[in-house]
Amino acid sequence: MHTEKNSFSLENKVIIVTGGTGVLGSSFVQAIAEAGGAVVILDLHQDKAEQKAAELKAAGHEALGLAANVLDEADLEKAKAIILERYGKIDGLVNAAGGNVPESIIQPDQDIFDMNIEGMKKALVLNVWGTVTPSKVFGAAMKENGGSIVNISSVSSKTVLTMVMGYSMGKAAIDIYTKWFAVEAARRYGDKIRVNAIAPGFFLTHQNKDLLTNPDGSLKQRSKNIMHSTPYGRFGQPEELNGAVIYLLSDASKFVTAAEIAVDGGFTKFSGV
Ligand code: NAD
Repeated sequence: MHTEKNSFSLENKVIIVTGGTGVLGSSFVQAIAEAGGAVVILDLHQDKAEQKAAELKAAGHEALGLAANVLDEADLEKAKAIILERYGKIDGLVNAAGGNVPESIIQPDQDIFDMNIEGMKKALVLNVWGTVTPSKVFGAAMKENGGSIVNISSVSSKTVLTMVMGYSMGKAAIDIYTKWFAVEAARRYGDKIRVNAIAPGFFLTHQNKDLLTNPDGSLKQRSKNIMHSTPYGRFGQPEELNGAVIYLLSDASKFVTAAEIAVDGGFTKFSGV
């Protein structure tokens, strides 16, 4: 019988993290390796992915760094072939590639009727198809042995954040996609393939740096507004997401599918009053 402690282990599991060299992705990768998983770091640039894998290997973990564009199905199929050749199976996928696209942002001094539709389409495509496509490609490898897919939503899909309409629409699509795919996978494969999401609050990373900080590193008024609307009164630290990710990847969450875990310091439950 599994003890509660053992059920959180990722030993003998092969887990892919897209966007694995990003700020949140790197943190997930580290936590997965420490939980005993063999981790595949997938990102746009081979050198960065390989470098992260080398760091983990030097610390005694099992890791593989691969370049692939999450929007390119053929690229993902090539990565899948390499992973299956090396490990023979895929047990988990964290869809961490995504984020804001600068040209999709509606600036405070901009009329909303001047919004950049092409820019917003880019944000929508990256955040929606950049999750659905890897889920299709890598999820198909989970049909026999089972596996867990973890999507990254955002507080931006629950309540209106100014400026980031395209990004928010993308994350709202992730919410229904997570539930839809979880239910349809369960109807076909029973409890083998689980699909869940986490909804992070605010973390300082590359994709939101310009939204949250000035060029000199000081916080913009937007950041101060975020602090006021977050009961914890601060940004999250990337490692504060790891517990939810490990839980959803591990057997500890065996009966959990179509769920979403908010990791937001209370942001979405607070009226601001
Ligand atoms: P980040 O910019 O640090 O990392 C994103 C990573 O995705 C980068 O390494 C980038 O190279 C990679 N990437 C982008 N496009 C790609 C593509 N087409 N193919 C492969 N890789 C690609 O950003 P982050 O904040 O760590 O973002 C991780 C996820 O968390 C995103 O989905 C983001 O929307 C989400 N999120 C972030 C926050 C936050 O506050 N930072 C809050 C909620 C949700």
